[in-house]
Amino acid sequence: MSKHRIETTLAHAGRHPEKNAGVVNPPVCHASTILFKTYADFSLAREGKFPGSAYGRHGTETMRSLEEAIMALEGADKSFIFPSGLSAIVVCLFSFLRAGDHLLIADSVYDPTRRFADQELASHGVEVTYYDPVIGPGIAELIRSNTKVVYTESPGSLTFEVQDLPALAKAAHEKGAVVIIDNSWATPLFYRPLSAGADIVIHSATKYIGGHSDLMMGIASCRKEHAATITRTYKNFGISASPDDCYLAQRGLRTLAARLKAHRENALFLADRLEKHPKVAAILHPAFASCPGHELWKRDFTGSSGLFSVVLKAPYPDGKLSAMLDNMELFGMGYSWGGYESLIIPFGLEKIRTSSSFPHKGALFRIHAGLENKEDLWEDLEKGLERLG
Ligand SMILES: *Cc1c(COP(=O)(O)O)cnc(C)c1O
Repeated sequence: MSKHRIETTLAHAGRHPEKNAGVVNPPVCHASTILFKTYADFSLAREGKFPGSAYGRHGTETMRSLEEAIMALEGADKSFIFPSGLSAIVVCLFSFLRAGDHLLIADSVYDPTRRFADQELASHGVEVTYYDPVIGPGIAELIRSNTKVVYTESPGSLTFEVQDLPALAKAAHEKGAVVIIDNSWATPLFYRPLSAGADIVIHSATKYIGGHSDLMMGIASCRKEHAATITRTYKNFGISASPDDCYLAQRGLRTLAARLKAHRENALFLADRLEKHPKVAAILHPAFASCPGHELWKRDFTGSSGLFSVVLKAPYPDGKLSAMLDNMELFGMGYSWGGYESLIIPFGLEKIRTSSSFPHKGALFRIHAGLENKEDLWEDLEKGLERLG
């Protein structure tokens, strides 16, 4: 782990201007072929022992410097760069699971993670069980002799339950299972899961690390003991990421602390206003007492980001939802989040909750607070809620 505080690490880690004629940012190195100087080097590469990159698919210096920065941020021995967050998730799951194994996944998980488990892992003979995201130490009762992975996402990126990662990790490790966590919401700035007991931490860097709605990327990090297991699957699946995208992700890192603090402030402001609105039943935001796991968030996290959900008191028919959503001036309607601009999406939980109940019946919206002026954002939201009638 870097000796500096995290804002400093974000600004400096992975950069080596002295190796690059003083240029502040690492260069973008495009490559397929990488030439060996000698037959001896070539032979080393054939045995997988060459110290540098032997082929473009394994990444160039651009990817190495991003990996170095991420390792410093996470306190990890090894980081892997993926072409999307989902590819990071599926490769990490696949690395640790074989036919006959059992996988535990939080019921609040990102929907495409659930689809991969149900449609791919299950058809390869992996048994999948979804657990209530607020289960805490009770997870021990679900862990079997063949449970190899406990997969968490904390908070869940639609319903925001915060999980008791240290309790999950303790129970999992007692039975020899690894814990994988999707930490996209908090980023390394607000939560460091490897020091809280997780074995592998994953980010959709598409979100806050990219930060400008123009990048797809995933990152996974781990300690030494799991590096070889993930490396094997990563290489065998032909995973790579483009140097241009590695460059963008690195540039995003440099401003992450400043951006995230502004996202946090705008989200808290909007959530606070929404909580007092007569149409609103509940705010699902880890920093609010109404959010399941709020106490765990206070115990474990050092901040909150810009993504949260709001539950209205009533459901609304499509016509009313169209009146609200089609006429938003600043809030765009689209997937993803973490960019500088505000977003809103309606959502339902019918197909994506199978083992835990959700107490609310009213309309649900997920909001990403961007970097616009917070009063402008509130005016747009308030007018939208009025259009519901
Ligand atoms: C978006 C997202 C992902 C997937 O990331 P992509 O880069 O879009 O593949 C994974 N987990 C969470 C929580 C996300 O929000």
